[in-house]
Amino acid sequence: MPQLIDGKKISAEIKDELKEKVQNLKDDGVSICLAVIQVGNDPASSIYVNNKKKACAYVGIESLAYELPEETTQRELLDLVEKLNADDRVNGILVQLPLPGHIDADVVIRAISPDKDVDGFHPESMGRLCIGEEGFVSCTPAGVIQLLKRSGIEIAGKECVVIGRSNIVGKPMSILLLRENGTVTVAHSRTRNLKEVAKRADILVVAIGKPKYITSDYIKDRAVVIDVGMHRNAENKLCGDVDFENVKDKVSAITPVPGGVGPMTIAMLMYNCVRAAIK
Ligand code: NAP
Repeated sequence: MPQLIDGKKISAEIKDELKEKVQNLKDDGVSICLAVIQVGNDPASSIYVNNKKKACAYVGIESLAYELPEETTQRELLDLVEKLNADDRVNGILVQLPLPGHIDADVVIRAISPDKDVDGFHPESMGRLCIGEEGFVSCTPAGVIQLLKRSGIEIAGKECVVIGRSNIVGKPMSILLLRENGTVTVAHSRTRNLKEVAKRADILVVAIGKPKYITSDYIKDRAVVIDVGMHRNAENKLCGDVDFENVKDKVSAITPVPGGVGPMTIAMLMYNCVRAAIK
C-alpha cells in the first residue's frame, strides 16, 4: 500500500496552529474578519460557503455572509465589493465562484482590493507570485505544497509534472513547485504524448477536471501523485481525476479523494485571512 497523504489530518493541524495564532492576535487587540459573498443559490457553492463559515468559527475568525439573489446585477455586486474594500473591519473578501452568467467574474476579482484578496486570484497576487514577491497565493495549490512538505516529500530537484493550466490551480501550482526548486513541466489539453510526459514525473499533480482519467500508464514507478480533481460519480460518491484503485500499487504516495487536497483549500484560506490581518 502506498503512503496515503492525509489532507484531513494536515488541514486539521494547520487550523489548530492558526487557532492559536488568532487567539494571540486577539489578546493583542487584533481581530480578523472575512466577508464571504455568494450570488444565487447553487447547491455546491452553498456547501463550500458553509464549510468556509464553519472553518472561520473554528479558527476564531469572524465571518460576514452576504447571500445575494441570482438576479443581482454586476453593478450591485461591485458596489458591495467597494464598500467592503473601504471597511477597515474587513480583512479578507471572498466572492464564491462560479457567478451567474450575466456577471463577469474577472471584473469582480479585479475589483477586490489586492490587500484583501484572500483567494489569491487578483492579477496583482498572481504577478507577485510569478516574480517571487510576498503576496496571497491561491489556496488549492498552496495547500498542495503544504501536503507535500508536511508529508516529508522533498520537492527540490525533482521532476514535477502539473497536468492542467487553469489560473486558479495549474498555473499557480507550477510556479509554486518552481519556487520550491522543482523542475517543472506543465501539460494541458494540447500536450502531445501526455502519457510519456506524465511518466517523467517524480511528483505528478493532476488538475484536469476529468473523473478517473489518469491510470497507471501515466505514472512512473514510485511516483508521488497529487489528485486535485473533485467529482461526484453516478452513486453520488466523490472521486478524483486519478483512478486511485488502478494506480495505487504503482505509486509511492498519493492523495485520496475525498480527504486529500479538498480539506487543504479551506485551511489555506484561513491562513490567508490571518496573513491579511497581520499585514
Ligand atoms: P479547469 O479550469 O477546467 O482547467 C482544466 C485544465 O485541464 C485545463 O488547463 C485543460 O487544458 C486541462 N485538461 C483538460 N482535459 C485535459 C486532458 N485530457 N489532458 C490534459 N489536460 C487536460 O479546471 P480547474 O479549475 O483547474 O480544476 C481542475 C479540477 O480540480 C476539477 O476537477 C475541479 O473540480 C478540481 N478543483 C478542486 C479543488 C479542491 O479544493 N480540491 C479546487 C479547485 C479545483 P486547456 O487549458 O488546454 O483547456
